Amino acid sequence: MIPVTKSFFPPIEDYQKQVQRIWDNQWLTNNGALLQELQEKLVAHLGVKHIIPMTNGTLPLHIALKALAKGGEVITTPFSYVATTASIVWEQCTPVFVDIHPEYLTIDETKIEAAITKQTTAILATHVYGNPCDVEAIENIATKYDLKVIYDAAHCFGVRYKGQSIFNYGDVSTCSFHATKLFHTGEGGAAFVQDEAMKHEIFFRHNFGHDEPTAYHGLGTNAKMSELQAAMGLSVLPYMDNILEARKTIVDYYDAHLDFSKLQKLKIRPETQWNYSYYPVIFPTETDLLNAIDRLNAADVFPRRYFYPSLEALPYIDSNQCPIAKDLASRVLCLPLYVGLKEKEIIHIISILGETLYVF
Ligand SMILES: *Cc1c(COP(=O)(O)O)cnc(C)c1O
Repeated sequence: MIPVTKSFFPPIEDYQKQVQRIWDNQWLTNNGALLQELQEKLVAHLGVKHIIPMTNGTLPLHIALKALAKGGEVITTPFSYVATTASIVWEQCTPVFVDIHPEYLTIDETKIEAAITKQTTAILATHVYGNPCDVEAIENIATKYDLKVIYDAAHCFGVRYKGQSIFNYGDVSTCSFHATKLFHTGEGGAAFVQDEAMKHEIFFRHNFGHDEPTAYHGLGTNAKMSELQAAMGLSVLPYMDNILEARKTIVDYYDAHLDFSKLQKLKIRPETQWNYSYYPVIFPTETDLLNAIDRLNAADVFPRRYFYPSLEALPYIDSNQCPIAKDLASRVLCLPLYVGLKEKEIIHIISILGETLYVF
């Protein structure tokens, strides 16, 4: 079976060595030694200012929205994983969808201003597939209208834009360290912020609102990363260069051998150092896509419809329509991409796709 992705497993000895440290320390969570070490290593590895590791990649979205969007209207993208929209609704904010760019698939920054009202408090955009939004244009709009900017950068581990980490943009950027993401801690995630004041704002909220054991700064929840999660992170991090290299080889192979006279490929924004996190292809029609899925499934290959449906179609949303996102979401398919995917498997996938596209 060839799935869309497989989790990276470091050698078990590496993990055992880290877990041994937890037993030696007799310390399982609450700012433990492994967490602190992972935090320092991630700051250095990524070139970011401040990181607040968390227990998954969804809670940093909730916390950032609670701190910055304050129940207002949040301008957002319909083309992302459901967590982006669900966290807005869960935080009792109102999502206002702005359609996406037809090639970059990120929010169309030229359509944001028209969606701003007196109730707008924030923009929550996704660097979908690790492809950066137009962060400069978004920053200009946010400054002009006094809005906060949150980036769902769940797909962005290792992505650099104009020579620096993409996590360094926005008031808060978030990442997911879920098992299926590039760098992982099993479950996990983080918020990235630019200054001490915002770090405090996010930090106390992820730790029940505590400032001190007997003092509360404000409303908080529990989003702390445990030592077991940090142990996995410390075991995976040394392999990130190998992981990126292996994924690049596969992406280069798809790029060189797929027939792009029929398929549309994701356009990566200029001046981006991408991380090869997903391999989306866009079919001419949804029928072509469904046909390709059938044939691939019959050959024991299981690509995924990331991200379908377009999020303004969620059952708890009554909202504006985004025709470009709706159309693209119906035609996009992510092909298998993971460390260990073999060349002959890639050739097989490419040949099945070739056959499906030429019967029409
Ligand atoms: C994976 C993902 C999340 C959620 O992250 P978890 O760590 O699974 O909670 C949020 N947004 C996007 C775009 C994602 O792909």
